[in-house]
Amino acid sequence: MQVLLTGGNRGIGEQMTSQLRARGDTVVATSRDGSTGAALDVTDRAQLTALADSFEGPLDLLICNAGVYLDKGHSLGNGFDAQLWADTFAINVTGVFQTIEALLPALRLSKAPKIAVLSSQMGSDERAGGGAYIYRASKAAVLNLTRNMAIDLKPQGIAIGAYHPGWVRTDMGGSSADIDAATSAAGLIARFDCLGGDHTGVFENYDGTVIPF
Ligand code: NDP
Repeated sequence: MQVLLTGGNRGIGEQMTSQLRARGDTVVATSRDGSTGAALDVTDRAQLTALADSFEGPLDLLICNAGVYLDKGHSLGNGFDAQLWADTFAINVTGVFQTIEALLPALRLSKAPKIAVLSSQMGSDERAGGGAYIYRASKAAVLNLTRNMAIDLKPQGIAIGAYHPGWVRTDMGGSSADIDAATSAAGLIARFDCLGGDHTGVFENYDGTVIPF
C-alpha cells in the first residue's frame, strides 16, 4: 500500500510511519522542516501542489495527521487571541482540506483509496467539556468536513474517516496522557484498515469504539 502522511517527524505521525513501514507499506512521511521525507507545511499551497505533482503512482491511504493545539491552558478573558484562531484553522481545517484536494488525483489512481483525518474527541459536540475553544472548534470543523466529504467522495469509491487517537503522550498530549504513541498508532492503523465501502464518514476512537458527533 502507498501511504502519504503529514506531520511524520514526531509524535503519533512518526509512530504510524514506522509501524506502517515495518509491515511493508511504502510511506511518504512529510515534515515542515524537511528533516523527514518531503518538506510540507500544510498551509503552503505551492508546496502541496509540488508534492502532489511529484507523487508517483496510486495513493492508497492519505493520513492527515499534522495539527496544532495553540490555545492549551488559555482561560476565558485571558487568551484566545484572534491570530490563534486564524493560525489554528489554517492548519487544522484549511490545511486538511487543501491537502485532500491536492492529492485527489493520486487517490483516484488507487483501487481502494482512503483518507484518514486526525480529529479529536474534543471536537465532539456531545462530549463538550468546556475550554480549549479554538482547538475544539477546529477539530469539530474538520470532523464536519470529513462527514460532508464522505458524501461527495463515496460515489468515486473514496472512503474518508475521522479519528480520535486517544489521549497520547506526545509533545501535544503531554507526559500525563493515558497511552503511548505506539499504542495509539497501532490502534489507528487497524481502524484505517477497516475503512472503505460503506464504512465511510465514521468517527472512531483508536480502539475501535464509536465517538458520538
Ligand atoms: P505533536 O504536537 O506531537 O506533532 C504534531 C505534528 O504536526 C508535528 O509533526 C508537526 O510538525 C506537525 N505540524 C504542525 N503544524 C504543521 C503544519 N503547518 N504543516 C505541517 N505539519 C505541521 O502532535 P500529536 O502527534 O500528539 O498529534 C497528531 C494529531 O493527533 C494532531 O492532529 C492532533 O490534534 C491529534 N490529536 C492528538 C491527541 C493527543 O493526545 N496527542 C489527542 C487528540 C487528537 P513540526 O515538528 O514541524 O511542528
